[in-house]
Amino acid sequence: MYWNERYECMPAAELQELQLERLQATVRRAFFDVPFYRRAFQEIGLEPGDIKSLDDLQRLPFTTKQDLRDNYPYGMFAVPMSEIVRIHSSSGTTGKPTVVGYTRHDIDVWSELMARALVCGGATRHDIIQNAYGYGLFTGGLGIHYGSERLGASVIPISGGNTKRQVMIMKDYGSTVLTCTPSYALHIAEVMAEMGIKPEEIKLRCGIFGAEPWSESMRQEIEKRLGISAVDIYGLSEVIGPGVGIECQEKNGLHIFADHFLIEIIDPVTGKQLPPGQRGELVITSLTKEALPVIRYRTRDITSLIPGPCPCGRTHPRVARFTGRTDDMLIIRGVNVFPSQVESVLLEMGGTEPHYLLIVDRQGSLDTLEIKVEVSETLFSDKVRRLEDLEKRLRHELESTLGISVKVTLVEPKSIQRSEGKAVRVIDKRKI
Ligand SMILES: [Zn+2]
Repeated sequence: MYWNERYECMPAAELQELQLERLQATVRRAFFDVPFYRRAFQEIGLEPGDIKSLDDLQRLPFTTKQDLRDNYPYGMFAVPMSEIVRIHSSSGTTGKPTVVGYTRHDIDVWSELMARALVCGGATRHDIIQNAYGYGLFTGGLGIHYGSERLGASVIPISGGNTKRQVMIMKDYGSTVLTCTPSYALHIAEVMAEMGIKPEEIKLRCGIFGAEPWSESMRQEIEKRLGISAVDIYGLSEVIGPGVGIECQEKNGLHIFADHFLIEIIDPVTGKQLPPGQRGELVITSLTKEALPVIRYRTRDITSLIPGPCPCGRTHPRVARFTGRTDDMLIIRGVNVFPSQVESVLLEMGGTEPHYLLIVDRQGSLDTLEIKVEVSETLFSDKVRRLEDLEKRLRHELESTLGISVKVTLVEPKSIQRSEGKAVRVIDKRKI
């Protein structure tokens, strides 16, 4: 049930003591070995010795993705390149990518955390793990891979893509665990159905999905279509990669591995810490990283702290499932809209597929939102009147959830492009 019970179930007081000790070491490392942090600390007159308690965390400056970009490629590293054994980077869809490095010890810690995450998510060393996360600069593939090997499971390094082959291998090799993005899991399920393979014909029992926000209804949909139990895993390359946190079998929030990462939820506008239960931006301070320590890294991911202990026995804090990213949030006519809200409505209503696209535009001075939704195969071949009725009900439901008027366009099944990694849900024409 646990990979490392001593650390995962550590009593709160002992855990806090360990965190403080590690925070102080990280702050010293950042100050003495990273010119960016030394300057940032000096600007506010702060020295490593000023951090005397965990509350003092709030005195430290934030780190943003822009800081990593400004110091591209290696300016944030705290060790010479001779100690770096691995380099990963983000996709860099907007501007320069961010580059991250790992020492041998960092890779060791990451593998350990990933093994811990896999066990927490329901995997054991007897599993055959089909790892359909992309291998390469993206941390997903290799992160899961090293964790699976550390766990002692059998890992199939299939990477993303070639979905028919994924299904064939899943069936023939007897894969029991699938790891990929939730949108890709859904696509695999779709292709499996097209190939005439039923969930009972495969051995898959568990799915560990992440790298994009997904709703509770999406979980139920994937679980039903693949006949599995699915959990949400969290991580980001700037902090380490996957394995920062994961849901346990309670499926009620993600445990963040607090002996390695110190978390806060802040108001993204004021930067002030928020109490448990209140939604804000997740901020992470690494506690054990050598190559790239990050102090109060602003993840832009939106969540809240779940108060109270978890029945699974792990003492590490839990955060609620992510509802989106501050940069996914669309502001349409002054109202905050998240693509995940649309997803929930679609899955709860039925008659449609959870494939959708939000198109934001501006007519004159007014923002418009069009939502393209795929109709399910059975309904599509049906009478026009039923489609009109569905469109009307969807529009009504979406407008009451989002709080703005929307145009709903029903489109043919399989006409919205599928993704083998992170799905594209929004086209914002206002920026062009
Ligand atoms: Zn738990």
